Amino acid sequence: MEKRVKPKIRFNQKAVGQMNGLLHDLKLNTVCAEATCPNLGECFSSGTATFMILGKHCSRNCRFCDVSFGHMEAVDTLEPEHLALATKQMGLKHVVITSVARDDLADGGASQFVKCIEAVRKYNPATTVEVLIPDFQGDKASLDIVIAAKPEIINHNIETVARISPKIRHRATYQRSLEVLAYIKEQAPDIFTKTGIMLGLGETQAEVEQAMDDCLASKVDFFTIGQYLQPSPKHYPLQEYVSMHQFGVYRRLGMQKGFKFVASSPQVRSSYKAHEALAAGGGA
Ligand code: SF4
Ligand code: SF4
Repeated sequence: MEKRVKPKIRFNQKAVGQMNGLLHDLKLNTVCAEATCPNLGECFSSGTATFMILGKHCSRNCRFCDVSFGHMEAVDTLEPEHLALATKQMGLKHVVITSVARDDLADGGASQFVKCIEAVRKYNPATTVEVLIPDFQGDKASLDIVIAAKPEIINHNIETVARISPKIRHRATYQRSLEVLAYIKEQAPDIFTKTGIMLGLGETQAEVEQAMDDCLASKVDFFTIGQYLQPSPKHYPLQEYVSMHQFGVYRRLGMQKGFKFVASSPQVRSSYKAHEALAAGGGA
């Protein structure tokens, strides 16, 4: 899922106020506004936003994430149409759709992803769609449902390197995430796959390079690297602020190793420069 952080923000307050009013009226959540993402101004002005579907509460409790745990909400049947309408009104060129993990639903929420993709396409035929999905507990039938809708990009984050993964992720595993990414590419080579990690959790360069190699072995196209920011004292402790220089080192390494696009800087979130990644991959 998208990382939830509270950094400094720079954007046009009036435009964001109007957008928040629209989202409130349509009962929609965006990661952009909810997490006061530092890229909000840049993304909205370039026509990108990330909607979070299937409610505000998660069936998992990852130690780095401040989405609230439990109290799962009923699926909103109007959500797909509302999301498509907001996409139109906001003039979005690229929409990212993500969700909390819904382990309580039989398909993990896969069919709601598809309804949202179809609604966006119906009202916004020129808009490209990226989905940032949970692992659906590795359930191939759920993955097949999403794959069949053919979004331009399917993103699933590994979040961190193999050693740290069990310390911060709840129920998800590093290996299963790699298997999910590999499965998507096997089933649909024409869909771009994407994943990402946060830095600052105590990982070494060798471990980051290994994570890149593992993702490339799963035929991942796009890789994102951002800085972890601890949401509160009760969340997993921040180990370090990684230097801009080191982010640059990782970006160059990732490109040399063979990713089609690497976004690597402290403010990068999974959906940052998503449209640019698509263009780099030859998809838009
Ligand atoms: Fe929204 Fe993602 Fe852009 Fe942040 S990086 S503003 S969450 S689209
Ligand atoms: Fe946050 Fe983990 Fe739930 Fe994703 S699965 S929304 S990272 S708690």
